[in-house]
Amino acid sequence: MDCIFCKIAKKEIPSTIVLENDSLIAIKDLNPQAPAHILIMPKRHFSTVLECKDKGLLGDMLTMANQAAEKLGVSKKGFRVVINTNEDGGQTVFHLHMHLLAGRPLSGMMG
Ligand code: AMP
Ligand code: ZN
Repeated sequence: MDCIFCKIAKKEIPSTIVLENDSLIAIKDLNPQAPAHILIMPKRHFSTVLECKDKGLLGDMLTMANQAAEKLGVSKKGFRVVINTNEDGGQTVFHLHMHLLAGRPLSGMMG
């Protein structure tokens, strides 16, 4: 399957990895919308969050977002997590991922 995030998860294309475990990877967003902008994604392919019925994996994504916020030193000031889904949600890459945004006050939905 020709999926850019599958390729990132397999290290076939480069990324800046912030955290990684057996099932998830957290990378820096290539086009950051905030001083800290991380994408947390499963290594396994799901097109959208709707396709992922694995509650444990979904919980682990949020846990990794918390860990990334701690690692980046933004947890005390605060951060936002977002999962864009399908067209109206603004999803552009159809491999499940969670955005972690931080490092400035976030006003609108995506800051
Ligand atoms: P979304 O609009 O929620 O699907 O978000 C896709 C995100 O992936 C955008 O914020 C892009 O900047 C980011 N992105 C696309 N390609 C790459 C890449 N190769 N490495 C890191 N981030 C990427
Ligand atoms: Zn994929």
